[in-house]
Amino acid sequence: MPELPEVETTVRDLKKKIVGLRFKDVWADRPKSVRQAGGIKNLNQIVKNKKILKVWRRAKFIVIDIEGPNSLFVHQKISGHLLYGRWKFEKGRWLSIGNGPMKSDPKNQHIRILFNLNNGFQLVLADLRRFGKIVLANDDIIDKLPEIKNLGPEPLEISYADFKKLFPGKKGRLKQVLMDPYFIAGIGNIYSDEILWFAGLHPMSRVENLEKENIKKLYKHMQKVLVKAVELKGSSMDDYRTISGRKGNFQNYQHAYHKTGEPCDKKDGGIIARLKIGGRSAHFCPIHQKIK
Ligand SMILES: [Zn+2]
Repeated sequence: MPELPEVETTVRDLKKKIVGLRFKDVWADRPKSVRQAGGIKNLNQIVKNKKILKVWRRAKFIVIDIEGPNSLFVHQKISGHLLYGRWKFEKGRWLSIGNGPMKSDPKNQHIRILFNLNNGFQLVLADLRRFGKIVLANDDIIDKLPEIKNLGPEPLEISYADFKKLFPGKKGRLKQVLMDPYFIAGIGNIYSDEILWFAGLHPMSRVENLEKENIKKLYKHMQKVLVKAVELKGSSMDDYRTISGRKGNFQNYQHAYHKTGEPCDKKDGGIIARLKIGGRSAHFCPIHQKIK
């Protein structure tokens, strides 16, 4: 599932490619891909000839603001990702024009929704597992959408002073708390493992036992890991690809996530272990990640 660095990369790339263009029309493989009142027909009528004004994100959600009172609200969910390129419709499916990862990488093949743009290019949602969706939302209610309104702060925007204030009264296992979008938004399985590896904290540590210096380390490494991951265009360990269909690079720099059985990169004699916390896997080094 894409996390903050993957979604941020998508948004930065989309800003360069689609802002200022206009939508011509929309296609969907089946009505369900557009969970929209009035279905694809209504969506088509509303987006037709509308200029794309802005692309932004909140947590893992992408918002494409178009002329008029509406925005497109994109849920990528587990395997969905947006692509920008050129396709032609042949024998009942969209085929990439030209070679490269858009054509060769199976993760880019499952095109569910396609927007024709006025420059001859297309914006598509590719989604193997079909949980992703694009819905229209009125600009005025975006902040009030149930997916958004109770989210915690953005980890790359919050100050240390405000980050500290999140902890008093908070209880639970550190890994679960970091992945709780109502505590802090946009951090999932990959980046929680990596942040804790750098901070030297065990994923089962209880947040109520953290000392001031632990919280300071957590903040520092949360920002460092996420900034680096954005620089590397995210992790493509799973389904995520950049909008040009290429893999991100962060998976080549991971120290904990999916490293079970490998020696710890700190060369402290530790072997990366895995345990289940609340149905999710945590990967950590039993030597330098201490339980609190
Ligand atoms: Zn270690």
